[in-house]
Amino acid sequence: MMKGINTDVLVIGGGAGGMAAALSAAREKSDVILLERENSTGGVLNQCIHNGFGLHFYKEELTGPEFADKLFNEMTLDRVNIISESYVSEVDVENKTVRVLSPDGAYEIYAKAIVIATGARERPFGALMIPGDRPSGIYTAGLAQRFVNLENRLPGKRALILGSGDIGLIMARRLVLEGMKVEAVVERMPFPGGLLRNIVQCLEDYNIPLYLSHTVTKTVGRGRLEKVEVSEVDENYNPIPGTEKIYDVDTLILSAGLIPQVEDISDSLQLDRVNKGYAVSNSCETNIDGIYAAGNNVAVFDLVDYVAAEGWVAGRHAALKSKGGENNTEKYPVIRGKNVSILVPSYIDFNESLRLYLRISKPIEHGRVILKELNIEKKFVDGVPSEMIQMVLNKKKMELIREKGGLFVEVVEDE
Ligand SMILES: Cc1cc2nc3c(=O)[nH]c(=O)nc-3n(C[C@H](O)[C@H](O)[C@H](O)COP(=O)(O)OP(=O)(O)OC[C@H]3O[C@@H](n4cnc5c(N)ncnc54)[C@H](O)[C@@H]3O)c2cc1C
Repeated sequence: MMKGINTDVLVIGGGAGGMAAALSAAREKSDVILLERENSTGGVLNQCIHNGFGLHFYKEELTGPEFADKLFNEMTLDRVNIISESYVSEVDVENKTVRVLSPDGAYEIYAKAIVIATGARERPFGALMIPGDRPSGIYTAGLAQRFVNLENRLPGKRALILGSGDIGLIMARRLVLEGMKVEAVVERMPFPGGLLRNIVQCLEDYNIPLYLSHTVTKTVGRGRLEKVEVSEVDENYNPIPGTEKIYDVDTLILSAGLIPQVEDISDSLQLDRVNKGYAVSNSCETNIDGIYAAGNNVAVFDLVDYVAAEGWVAGRHAALKSKGGENNTEKYPVIRGKNVSILVPSYIDFNESLRLYLRISKPIEHGRVILKELNIEKKFVDGVPSEMIQMVLNKKKMELIREKGGLFVEVVEDE
């Protein structure tokens, strides 16, 4: 084991969340180390070569790699110490010590405050419990995207896409543009998982059919995938006998959702039951003093701008904490009411304004987000779970939360 290193702020993960955190901590004049397991920073942005990134954070429309480059260049100017090919295998949260595995060996870093920004991983094929053969030709959408956009390789010739999350929709268009035939996108839910703009721009514009309330019920192939069976499902997601349809495809792309990457690092950090990511306050602090989390390992955000904004907040508070300048003992719960699925933050402290992010649990034509304790309502129309709703409250408004002992968030459906 190599000797330990000391720093003020340590950031784990060099995606949008981690880079923004490192940059904002550096702007607070802290010594910052950022650790990234890959050989360069950027995270998922590196393979998202389409545009649509950065409209809020940079006030311009960028591709994923352009967004990542901007943050990287700023980090370099602000003297963030970026260490790539360094995998964090464990965080001792009480002693703020991380164990790092790198090509040069294993070593430890001790920090005064830590930001964990490890992103999300894709739900794998095994988790979907689809019967049939296990041939080659079955890929997650992110892996297929990596093949095509970073390695210049096509996954196959004819594809079917299971799941209508944004990555699957974007890959449907990408594969067609690269010369593959995309037979259809099938979605188990009665509504699409991805953003409306992606349904229009990635499927409708390319005549790719989307079958809602359908799923893959069998995979067939020796060596390589040859066929998949698709069936309609009832309201309990059970396949309806007699609705089976066979597609002759050599590629099945899975876009069945992202899961916050929270495994391995520590067992002491509390998770949110529904978000499945770290439970954090609006200062991005976890249940452990001086340990912060931001980005897709807290909840899967739809926009990189939200991830970067949260990273920024996490980095700033980590820097303040590293200088002994902040005490967050007082935390009030944010409680999920009806029709709310993803909800960030899980707690409120009064060191920071409140940025509330939520996803509704089903499509709602006319609805209202109600924050009863604050007498605040936000109306919306044509709400869908794929689109996050964001509400920002200043510190003055938040005082009422202290009086009421917490914040209850619910969504009501209007006629
Ligand atoms: C296909 C796709 C299309 C998208 N399109 C858009 C869009 O058009 N517009 C938009 O605004 N947003 C879009 N997004 C969303 C946005 O890009 C992401 O939400 C955001 O980039 C996630 O950032 P992150 O830092 O949370 O995670 P990531 O980018 O996943 O970064 C996490 C980083 O942590 C590293 N890491 C993980 N574990 C460890 C460890 N133990 N040790 C060291 N390093 C570790 C990883 O290697 C990775 O680099 C898209 C996302 C995807 C996947």
